[in-house]
Amino acid sequence: MREHVAMLEAAGATATAVRRPAELEAVDALVVPGGESTTMWKLADVFDLLDPLRIRIKDGMPAYGSCAGMIMLADRIQDGIDGQQTIGGIDMVVRRNAFGRQVDSFEADLDFVGTQVHAVFIRAPWVESVGPEVEVLATAPPGDRIVAVRQGPLLATSFHPELTGDTRVHEYFVQMVKEL
Ligand code: GLN
Repeated sequence: MREHVAMLEAAGATATAVRRPAELEAVDALVVPGGESTTMWKLADVFDLLDPLRIRIKDGMPAYGSCAGMIMLADRIQDGIDGQQTIGGIDMVVRRNAFGRQVDSFEADLDFVGTQVHAVFIRAPWVESVGPEVEVLATAPPGDRIVAVRQGPLLATSFHPELTGDTRVHEYFVQMVKEL
């Protein structure tokens, strides 16, 4: 969370933490960070944020999800825990801990919308399949798995750009928000 705030500010935005519905109402756009999607879902439920989040996303609020945040923005997930829910918004199937079966964490240089970014993957999901409205922005080895996508105002990456000091993904998101 702190890393995302620093990256967003470096990209020219003003960032604040959102933990409650009133804080959600106050922002123009949202970053859903990494962590653990099962915990995030339970906390969002307990703090009465799940429905407000779904409503804002449905109303077109731009959002960027990294890693567990990507899982939260997926319409459908695989290998979630029993009953695990997401916010949804992106027409895709995301598989939790997908790379983890082979290797827990790894780093790779990836093409991301015309530039190379250094990507850090930590027990990362990958995108199993996407609907027709979803644009694939990056793929990663092994097997050219989909690791970055965009659908309209929603952006998601399997990796953690906030851990690298490379602000380009956040700049891309801030630019997206400005253009919408
Ligand atoms: N494996 C985590 C999950 O399922 C995501 C890991 C991460 O965000 N680095 O939510």
